[in-house]
Amino acid sequence: CWSNVEMGPPDAILGVTEAFKRDNNPNKMNLGVGAYRDDDGKPYILPSVLKAEEQILKAKLDKEYAGITGVPEFAKAAAELAFGVGNPILKDGLNVTTQGVSGTGSLRIGGAFFAKWYQPSKDFYLPSPSWGNHTPIFKHSGLEVKSYRYYDPSTCGFDFAGALDDISKIPEGSVIVLHACAHNPTGVDPKPEQWNELSAVIKKRKLFPFFDMAYQGFASGDTDRDAYALRQFVKDGHAVALSQSFAKNMGLYGERVGAFTIVCDSAEEASRVMSQVKIVIRPMYSNPPVHGARIASRILNTPELRTQWLGEVKGMADRIISMRTQLKDGLAKEGSSKNWQHITDQIGMFCFTGLKPDQVERLTKEFSVYLTKDGRISVAGLSSKNVGYLAKAMHEVTK
Ligand code: PMP
Repeated sequence: CWSNVEMGPPDAILGVTEAFKRDNNPNKMNLGVGAYRDDDGKPYILPSVLKAEEQILKAKLDKEYAGITGVPEFAKAAAELAFGVGNPILKDGLNVTTQGVSGTGSLRIGGAFFAKWYQPSKDFYLPSPSWGNHTPIFKHSGLEVKSYRYYDPSTCGFDFAGALDDISKIPEGSVIVLHACAHNPTGVDPKPEQWNELSAVIKKRKLFPFFDMAYQGFASGDTDRDAYALRQFVKDGHAVALSQSFAKNMGLYGERVGAFTIVCDSAEEASRVMSQVKIVIRPMYSNPPVHGARIASRILNTPELRTQWLGEVKGMADRIISMRTQLKDGLAKEGSSKNWQHITDQIGMFCFTGLKPDQVERLTKEFSVYLTKDGRISVAGLSSKNVGYLAKAMHEVTK
């Protein structure tokens, strides 16, 4: 029956992990996967998450279905975290926010809704490069995927002029996807002034900004600061769409906690849009899982837990920032004459090192350092114990 089914290619990132597992070198490092590790290289369960979970267990909540849009107190708190408490759009009831199956599922709800209801265009413009799953998610939704310049390999930084030039030529009505902060895979974010200018050009071209916010708090350590772009666009009068993930900032990866929001022009429009968002979700998975959303909701809605959590997010972001500095300093100490400034200029979980494919190959073969071919490393996989080894290895392959 399935003789027509061809073998598909393995997932690029999971393939890196497989190869890593087979390696016996005691110094081996897996810098492929985008999950936070503590300074001992171990997965980190946030203490605020454990506390929330204990409270939930004690409350002996039932396991009934949530509604199609999930745990109501969660969706409300997620929108407040993104747009800021007291934001006029929330006060006026202009946001349609539903729980989603983490960031991926929330993007997919957005894809389905836009494919069905967004009339001006089916073209989604992604930064080049973008998170590897964006293209399949939006294509699977029936949308056309295109791109605009974003990363400049010559500086390992933001190609601001290229982005502006490309964006100013995108046909009116198209959708532009923006990473709200901590761009994956490059770690390159526009500065606030650059966001302001991007907002103006996007407005002028009448494009629809669709934000993917998978790392709020993870970039700077401050959830408000990381929401700058989103909030500025709203202030500038854009109607926006937003996908949120709590995988990274709460360490809830496997719990699949996320949210999708569309901002409408009126409360009346919002109620119509909400009715159709439900109709889009229902045949896809009926309703989302409740446990993770209950954890996130309890943290966000309990002042002491929220304060504790904000401290823990900052702790993770600060550790990553300190690893960036140690890696750059380590390279200098090894005697590297290359400019590694981009390691500390970039932000968030990932660093686009600028290593070429042959250098990546040597890093893996000779030093058992595993990363994707594009030269991306997960900085969260570095620790005070192995950062020196990585600096030495990177210096050896870039001499
Ligand atoms: N968007 C971006 C840019 C991401 O990096 C990720 C996580 N790798 C996601 C969305 C979604 O992840 P998840 O489905 O695990 O929340």
